[in-house]
Amino acid sequence: MIKQFFKFLLESVLPRRCRKCGQILTEEGELCEHCLSELNFIYPPYCRKCGYPLTNENVNSKMLCASCLSKKRTPFRLIRSALYYDEASKNLILAFKFMDKTENAHLLAAMLKVAAEDIFAKGVDVIIPVPLHYSRLLKRKYNQSALLAKELGKYSGIKVDYTSLVRHKKTKPQVEFSGHERIKNVKDVFSVAHPGNLVGKRILLVDDVLTTGSTLKECALALKKAGVLSVDAVTVARVCG
Ligand SMILES: [Zn+2]
Ligand SMILES: [Zn+2]
Repeated sequence: MIKQFFKFLLESVLPRRCRKCGQILTEEGELCEHCLSELNFIYPPYCRKCGYPLTNENVNSKMLCASCLSKKRTPFRLIRSALYYDEASKNLILAFKFMDKTENAHLLAAMLKVAAEDIFAKGVDVIIPVPLHYSRLLKRKYNQSALLAKELGKYSGIKVDYTSLVRHKKTKPQVEFSGHERIKNVKDVFSVAHPGNLVGKRILLVDDVLTTGSTLKECALALKKAGVLSVDAVTVARVCG
């Protein structure tokens, strides 16, 4: 009875609100029913290697996408994403990235945890966020990927390493480029400080959105060069063209 009363008191003082639209929540959870129903989660079938969604037409017995079937070289063991990148997920992520809605990290990391289930099953030793260049970090005050990694570390109990992977060159934001230019823009911008710390380790890279994958790929190549055992990646959302 007393517990109920306190719960009521607490709720009346601090109503819990939907992380996306701000509406007061009457039930457990982080999002209201409407905002939750708007999000498009990536469910199976998807490529068992890179996580790209497979449609009924291109689903095959190997459960691989065309790119993975053709054995295109990739530095990744597995890649997974929680959501399709669309208007709904975009708003959730942009608010997190630019409007200081850092409390959303908790919710987004919960999605990462679910999406990365296969990756955690294979084993992860260290979680590493995609780093920002220090000049952009000063401007934006926080690295959204680092916040996601921190929360994911709490959920999974796995160590987060914020300093070993370094973005040593300043680049223009990837949104300003397309296709091949994106690959060029991030070429050789990442390096590993103190590679000894990561030798033989299984790394999970964390980022907010996977677009063409060129940033994550450059990170993975730098890590591989430093002698890690494997690299996986998980993102909140993924552009599926
Ligand atoms: Zn809502
Ligand atoms: Zn694939």
